[in-house]
Amino acid sequence: MRVFIPTKVYFEQEVKEYEQGRELLERYEKLNIPLIQIEAHHKIEELRHQPDKEFTRMKKYLILGTRKTIKLTPNDKSADFIVPFTSSGCTALCLYCYLVCHYKTNSYLRVFLNRDEMMNKVKQTINKAGEHKIYELGCNSDMVLENTITGNLRWAIEEFGKLENATATFATKFDMVDDLLKAKHNGHTQMRVSVNPVEIIRRVEFGTSSLIERIHAANKMLEAGYRVGLNIAPIILEDGWELMYEEMFQQLAEQLLPKLKGQLFIEIIFMTYGLPNFNINAASMPKAVDLLNKDKMRLKSPGKYTYRNEYRNAAESILRGYIEKYLPEATISYIV
Ligand code: SF4
Repeated sequence: MRVFIPTKVYFEQEVKEYEQGRELLERYEKLNIPLIQIEAHHKIEELRHQPDKEFTRMKKYLILGTRKTIKLTPNDKSADFIVPFTSSGCTALCLYCYLVCHYKTNSYLRVFLNRDEMMNKVKQTINKAGEHKIYELGCNSDMVLENTITGNLRWAIEEFGKLENATATFATKFDMVDDLLKAKHNGHTQMRVSVNPVEIIRRVEFGTSSLIERIHAANKMLEAGYRVGLNIAPIILEDGWELMYEEMFQQLAEQLLPKLKGQLFIEIIFMTYGLPNFNINAASMPKAVDLLNKDKMRLKSPGKYTYRNEYRNAAESILRGYIEKYLPEATISYIV
């Protein structure tokens, strides 16, 4: 993957109080990228009311700010706590991206410079919990992508490496893990590689790493001593999905290292598709596949669609069969 070079950088004045903030501004100034001062990362007037068709252009911007509210949220899926961490948003253009439902066209990458404050909140929570817990980093972003800009994932991994009673976890659709291989993780971090069939990645997950790149990244991380899982998400029931997913499982079985398969845990998440996704995709990527299939989907909550039970349940049983056949040593953490 190429390194992300933004076309514009918007920054809060406060960013200059942080060494990392000053370095980032200096880096982009040297590249002659326009630097625009803003009052607050969530109130950029010139970006707030842009039409939907501007979405892909705005995804090339980088916003630098500080996170004002840092409150860990309890979770019962991939972690015990979700940590609001050093970024939100992303440079990729997955057609179903959940962030588009929250931030609409403003789901560009924002990097927050006050990482010590976030890590202090984690430490307070660890002390309070008094027993081992798992902490999810980057649930509103992709930390592997962010790490190529800030090095914050490597930093966080090493911070968790020094802590007791805590495991960090993160999911990614990117493969740029080389910087993480030598991190002193002390066995306190696990990675979940998000995978989908080759055809789905090509037609739906624009701007992310290919399946083979993600598989190589998973193997490298396992070799570097990390625990590695798969996050098969989101499951998309497009025509021909059975064959596409079977081929994906075959490829995983052939190309994941045997010792990775021996410790493998798998999460499966069926797609939720929001009306903001539909509207923004139609306006900004009109040639892309339309994922809103009202024959197979039902309203899950206002403006959000999911697969009807008859399709979802049949698909779940087929996917469980593929896992038994191709990855028999794996454990399924959850299916939602
Ligand atoms: Fe959204 Fe994740 Fe895709 Fe980025 S990689 S666009 S955060 S779904």
